[in-house]
Amino acid sequence: MSASASVTKSVADTAFTRTFGVDVPLVQGGMQWIARAGLVAAVAEAGGLGFLSALTQPSPEDLSREIARTHELTDRPFGVNLTVLPTIEPRPYDEYRAAIIESGVTVVETAGSDPTPHIEHFARHGVRVIHKCTSVRHALRAQAAGAAAVTVDGFECAGHPGEDDIPGLVLVPAVARRLDIPVIACGGFADGAGLVAALALGADAICMGTRFLCTEESPAHPNVKRAIVAASERDTELIFRPLRNTSRVASNAVSRTVVASLAAGAGFDGVRELVSGARGRQVFDGGDLEAGVWSVGMAQGLIDDVPDVATLVDRIMAQAHAIVCGLAS
Ligand code: NAD
Repeated sequence: MSASASVTKSVADTAFTRTFGVDVPLVQGGMQWIARAGLVAAVAEAGGLGFLSALTQPSPEDLSREIARTHELTDRPFGVNLTVLPTIEPRPYDEYRAAIIESGVTVVETAGSDPTPHIEHFARHGVRVIHKCTSVRHALRAQAAGAAAVTVDGFECAGHPGEDDIPGLVLVPAVARRLDIPVIACGGFADGAGLVAALALGADAICMGTRFLCTEESPAHPNVKRAIVAASERDTELIFRPLRNTSRVASNAVSRTVVASLAAGAGFDGVRELVSGARGRQVFDGGDLEAGVWSVGMAQGLIDDVPDVATLVDRIMAQAHAIVCGLAS
């Protein structure tokens, strides 16, 4: 094997790719409203591991149909994200869990509250769990509960970064040095430099949401993709901070109003209508960027195009390869 081929292999051949049987150490996070069959299958076909978002589907039966659609589009591995956080309407998590198991999916990404009961239940049915968390203590708990891997979300991430505000530069190695299972770095990643940095910090893969949201196969309205390309890393807001359910979303009139209302003492009931996922969906589906709050990460400051998924994956791996070769020489 040439030195160059050997470097390419070393970037792609990690504990993550070996454990999950994929070609490249790239994960597409289970984004609400975005992570549907077309995007997930495109990521799988490009050699990465994509996750459908379970709660994007209005019912467990709809989730079963979306999983079947994804199976029709690819015979490569993919998974399902099950997020357990406060919701406006209670969700039947047990039924979503059953739909996942019955569909033959073999890897699940859990996120949010203590995953122990889910990990144990999925394990009894031969489903491996990657738990997404935002602290060393939660990563250790997930490993002890039997998680096959953890995704560690740094403060840069879209959606829920937790309450500790530890960026990936510290959080990823702090987790990696304590865990035996594969670690996936998440939050702020959008290119090959990020992949190499994550591997250097002890991670075995990177997970990207915003970067995959801004691809041709993503179902987000073109206005959303254009807004991400135009935005800088400064254009996000942290909502729900006083409620200890912090979430990073795009900066717009709605999110700034929510921040101001909660800071002025409003409770969740005072902002419920503004923050509902149903309104966020209008942004992604209809392209009205002011229709509601919508999740996006600081990585938007690194994104300046809308490639197809295969081109993006090839580019990231080529960038990583060139950087590692450059460092080696
Ligand atoms: P939703 O419409 O039920 O709620 C909208 C937002 O309000 C969510 O962020 C939710 O966590 C928050 N929320 C609801 N009740 C709350 C309460 N009592 N106190 C504080 N915050 C409260 O949610 P949705 O948009 O349909 O999303 C479904 C699930 O996916 C939620 O659990 C949501 O948090 C999660 N989600 C995760 C991400 C991410 O980090 N990847 C992004 C978007 C949504």
